[in-house]
Amino acid sequence: MQTKYIFVTGGVCSGLGKGIASASMGAILKAMGKSVFVMKFDAYLNVDPGTMNPLRHGEVFVTDDGAETDLDLGHYERFIDIPLSKLSISCTGQIYEKILLKERNGDFLGKDIQIIPHVTNEIKQRIENAAKVSKADFVIIEIGGTVGDIEVEPYLESARQFHREKGHENVLFSHVTLLPYLQVTNELKTKPTQASVRELQRRGIQPDIIFARADSSIPKELTEKISLFCDVEEEAVIPNETLNNIYDVPCMLETFNMSRLLSKKLSFPYKKPVMTEWNRLSKLNTGKKNITIAIVGKYISHGDAYISVHEAVRSAAMHNKSAVKIEYIDSEKLEKKDKKEWKRLESSDGIIVPGGFGDRGIEGKILAAQYAREQKVPYLGLCLGMQIATIEFARNVAGIKGATSEEFSPKAKHQVIHFMPDQKNLRKKGGTMRLGAYPCTLKAGSKVKELYKKQKISERHRHRYEFNNTYRSQLEKNGLKITGMSPNKHIVEIVENADHPFMIGVQFHPEFQSRPLRPHPLFDGLIKAALNSSSRG
Ligand code: GLN
Repeated sequence: MQTKYIFVTGGVCSGLGKGIASASMGAILKAMGKSVFVMKFDAYLNVDPGTMNPLRHGEVFVTDDGAETDLDLGHYERFIDIPLSKLSISCTGQIYEKILLKERNGDFLGKDIQIIPHVTNEIKQRIENAAKVSKADFVIIEIGGTVGDIEVEPYLESARQFHREKGHENVLFSHVTLLPYLQVTNELKTKPTQASVRELQRRGIQPDIIFARADSSIPKELTEKISLFCDVEEEAVIPNETLNNIYDVPCMLETFNMSRLLSKKLSFPYKKPVMTEWNRLSKLNTGKKNITIAIVGKYISHGDAYISVHEAVRSAAMHNKSAVKIEYIDSEKLEKKDKKEWKRLESSDGIIVPGGFGDRGIEGKILAAQYAREQKVPYLGLCLGMQIATIEFARNVAGIKGATSEEFSPKAKHQVIHFMPDQKNLRKKGGTMRLGAYPCTLKAGSKVKELYKKQKISERHRHRYEFNNTYRSQLEKNGLKITGMSPNKHIVEIVENADHPFMIGVQFHPEFQSRPLRPHPLFDGLIKAALNSSSRG
């Protein structure tokens, strides 16, 4: 079939869950037997989100082909279960970079370069190209930011032109907005939604579907009112209340006949979506046994900085029929011996040290790893967390005084983690790390081999430093097991502590490949180990 396009815009404010709405529509289309590809345009002037601070922008999600992307791509992959790629993310900086390079090359033959048509053409071409390469039946395009933001204008203009060129039956506009709650009158208000739809209309875009977001239940009169004022059919105003579990959103949307709506609006034959898996997932929600997993990091004040780790833990817990409480522990507070923070760590059944950069809070993470090793608390180290486990082992078991990473202490004598030798010349930030999927061979008889149930795996990476092979034999002699290596045997990918029920550090980010319906073996292993230790303790 000819590719159809769904644009997703946001109104009123950011953070309403455009990504979840896009991902859920994708999940429904997939359940209708259609192929789906998703793209996100991020209006920031950055070239990619790789250099953005997780404290401001949330997690950087990495694709198989090594694109450093917005965390919404994680939602798309988790909901739709398709591998995305570089084609799925464009920041404004990337678009301008390309146009400006062309200009320097003289490719525009002396013409003046303008937002319309040069920037808008580049945007439209990216969408067309994604459709062509992915060969998907549907391409969902999320436009980051909020309607009215100055940076978003070229994207809305491109969407308007795209609709004009492809025809109404091939392009759908959906708009995610907020109904704010006023406590004084105890009511939800529709005026901001009306205003944001007017903003869209002023730009020549009439939404076909409105997702009206609110934290409380949305009375029918309000969807009627939105329908009247915004010129959207009533059945296409979806009351989108905040749910406890984001994975319930596709089923919730289906209760409002989303699949029928999409097939009607985009003129394609209706087929009932098979939602069995999603229903199964909804039922899994009710775990009985309670466990607590601590995530020890320094970006803990931003709820989304570790979102893929968070989701991977939750998925694994759901599949083990346990309710999990995730405690975010501030590594700097551990370092400062903050009693409350230590107490929270000590009452956890499992510890994760996730990825991170720079030396702030590092000693606190090392103390957490030491605590996990000595007290035999299940520990999973992800990227930096693997490096931390290695440093802790080197210092406290192998007796290598002052062992550290080149990243934290460039002049230190014992850099058990060091700058990757083949990257020595790369000091530039931005797209210069070891990025994307790389193969890894697992050692027979290891815990990881038992968990993955295969010998060759492929996992996504995002790191600049690695295990220093000079220390390999010394650490191994002291009992550190190296159980995963790059196939050429140069890069240590996994370390395990054999003298521990579950202490594993991996140089990659397994969280990016965990899916709600298919939890990742390492997270599954961690949860099982935590359940075991909590029933013992
Ligand atoms: N900062 C470490 C490195 O660059 C770890 C990176 C990470 O955790 N993603 O190697």
